[in-house]
Amino acid sequence: MGPPDVILGVTEAYKKDPNPNKINLGVGAYRDDNGKPFILPSVQKAQKILDSQNLDNEYGPIGGIQSFTDASAKLAFGENSDVIKSKRYATVQGLSGTGSLTIGAYFLNRFWNKSKDIYLPTPTWGNHIPLFKDAGLTIKQYRYYDPKTCGFDFSGALHDIAKIPEGSMIVLHACAHNPTGVDPKPEQWKEMSKVIKSRNLFPFFDMAYQGFASGDIDKDAQPLRLFIEDGHQVALAQSYAKNMGLYGLRVGAFSLTCKDKEEADKVMSQLKILIRPLYSNPPITGARIAEKILNSSDLYKIWLDDIKTMSGRIMSMRSKLREGLKKEGSSKNWEHITDQIGMFCFTGMKPEQVERLMKEHSVYLTKDGRISVAGVTSKNVDYLAKAMHAVTK
Ligand code: PMP
Repeated sequence: MGPPDVILGVTEAYKKDPNPNKINLGVGAYRDDNGKPFILPSVQKAQKILDSQNLDNEYGPIGGIQSFTDASAKLAFGENSDVIKSKRYATVQGLSGTGSLTIGAYFLNRFWNKSKDIYLPTPTWGNHIPLFKDAGLTIKQYRYYDPKTCGFDFSGALHDIAKIPEGSMIVLHACAHNPTGVDPKPEQWKEMSKVIKSRNLFPFFDMAYQGFASGDIDKDAQPLRLFIEDGHQVALAQSYAKNMGLYGLRVGAFSLTCKDKEEADKVMSQLKILIRPLYSNPPITGARIAEKILNSSDLYKIWLDDIKTMSGRIMSMRSKLREGLKKEGSSKNWEHITDQIGMFCFTGMKPEQVERLMKEHSVYLTKDGRISVAGVTSKNVDYLAKAMHAVTK
């Protein structure tokens, strides 16, 4: 018998708890202020249009729906990017972020002949490790999070990256780093880009939260765009799980930027050869919804508002939680709760404190002290502040 998944294990324990005040802060899915899943108004409208069109359920292309993949590349790289204008990108539809990362991992194992080593930030999203390992790559690490400040370990990261052997691959969370909620500042990204270039490393961006960090999709994509301006060739995995709330519909994309259109066509042909035996072709329903939103100016505007609603609520819960801890009389520095960004907050609580939160207060989260701020609401935030203060004082 294999061990259960860490995050799903938290949800199981939460479900079994009879306490009416229980809170689940484990799972990384957005909730509205009533703690309920949220279907975005833009998605509801797109679904209605699709329903009225009576589309058939024939197979889609191996690389996915092209009007979706083109729009997805535009969303990431920016309409005015040289990558888009000169069509030097190869983008395929993937099974949300995870499946898109997997396509990239397989592709790099097959075609990146300089190294099999891939460097991940410490810590990183837990699934990165088995995902890249299973694709045949060797996992290495670089420093990222500083537990002393609950912030970014900039000097540690630069120091480690500067020593990575040339030709290795490096994974970068484009925005809203999971699990820490800690992102480099724009000038720190600039430095990182320089060092990564000077070491001839291959950057693989994981962008699972575009729009979720700041509420602005262009601002969140800035690190990726900066790397392109600096002349890097990049790999990119996108997910529409969070920013469109399409979790279970599994919509994502994998892209590789190329030298020119001719190279992009060649890469595309190899991506299709790789995908065909894996799952033949991706599911069409979610990609049709995303495509409708990205390609219709009316729906797109509504979607940008939807993103602001979600990211805004999360930011306001961060402030409320910090205020609540102060009100409870906590003398600890909780600034990082509002400094950090995106869906998650790395609270700095120790495993023993997390254990007490679960056992004594029915507040469920992963052992590393990460809370999904999306699970905090105006109704449970005071209870949460009280519980966090009780285990940290
Ligand atoms: N990368 C990161 C950093 C993530 O946090 C997630 C979601 N938890 C993903 C990728 C992929 O998620 P999904 O496959 O649901 O899009």
